[in-house]
Amino acid sequence: MTDRYAVFGNPIGHSRSPRLHAAFAEQTGQAMRYEAIEAPVADFATAWQRFVADGGRGANVTVPFKETAFALADTLTPRARLAGAVNTLSVTPEGGTHGDTTDGVGLVRDLEAHAAPLDGARVLLLGAGGASRGVIEPLLDAGVASLTIANRTVAKAEALAQLFAERGEVEGCGFEAVTGPFDLVVNATSASLAGDLPPLPEGLFGVGGLAYDMMYAAEPTVFLRWAGAQGARTVDGLGMLIEQAAASFALWRGVEPETAPLYAALRQTL
Ligand code: NDP
Repeated sequence: MTDRYAVFGNPIGHSRSPRLHAAFAEQTGQAMRYEAIEAPVADFATAWQRFVADGGRGANVTVPFKETAFALADTLTPRARLAGAVNTLSVTPEGGTHGDTTDGVGLVRDLEAHAAPLDGARVLLLGAGGASRGVIEPLLDAGVASLTIANRTVAKAEALAQLFAERGEVEGCGFEAVTGPFDLVVNATSASLAGDLPPLPEGLFGVGGLAYDMMYAAEPTVFLRWAGAQGARTVDGLGMLIEQAAASFALWRGVEPETAPLYAALRQTL
C-alpha cells in the first residue's frame, strides 16, 4: 500500500502543501500520497486518529491546529517543546504520535538562501504569536547577537522574551518603543493578511538591512513596500513555506529534496 500523508487545517482549500510534496516525491522517487484534509475546528484528534487507522504515516498541521497537535502528541522533539506548537506529526513504529516543528528551520534556511545577515546580527522580530515563538530558538542558534521581540500586546512580547532570556540578549517591547538600526527585521504578525502595517518608527534598517515578511502574496505586502521605501532589501515568506515542507518530507522519508526548482514554479501560482 502506498504510504499516506496529509496536511490538516481549517480552511485548507488554499494549501500549496499537496503540490509541494507531490513534487518532492517525484523528484526523489518516493512512492507516497499526500492530500489536504479539512478537520472540524473542534475535533482535530478524531480526524487524525481516523487518518492513522486508514494507514496514515504522517501529516503537516496548519492553522488552527498547531497547538492541538502539540497537546495530542505522545512524544515531542525539544524544538517543538520550545516552540509550543507542532507542524509535523509522524506515526512511530509502535503506533504512537510524534510531534516536531519545521517552521523555524524553514525560516532560517530561506534566510540563508537569501544571504540574510544572521551571525552577529541585530534582529527585530515583529509579533508574539505561534509563528514568532517557533522561530526564536533557530534564530538564536544561527548566532544572532541580539533579538528584540515587538508586539501589539506588549505583555506577550515580554513573556516570550522572558522564556528565552537564558539563551542570550532577548528583549520584548511594543512597536513604538523599538529603536534601530537592525540588520534583519522579520514580520511574524498576521497584520499583512489584513493589509495592515504595525506602527513602526522610521530608521529601523541598518546599511544592507533585510526585511522578511512570513506572509507571501502575488504582490509585495504592505510591510515589504514600507521596508523597501526605507532602503531595505525585501523577501517574502514563500521560501519559508517551501523549506518547512522540505524539512518535514526529510523527516518522514529520510531523503532531502531539492527546493530551488520549486521557487519559480510556486511563485507563478500566487
Ligand atoms: P497568531 O494568530 O498566533 O499571531 C498573530 C500575531 O500577529 C500576534 O502577535 C498579533 O498580535 C499580531 N497581529 C495580528 N494583527 C495585527 C495587526 N493588525 N497589527 C499588529 N499586529 C497584529 O498567528 P501566527 O503566529 O500563527 O502567524 C503569523 C503570520 O505568519 C501569519 O501571517 C501566517 O500566515 C504567517 N506564517 C507563515 C509561514 C510560512 O511558511 N511562510 C509559517 C507560519 C506562519 P497580538 O498578540 O497583539 O494579538
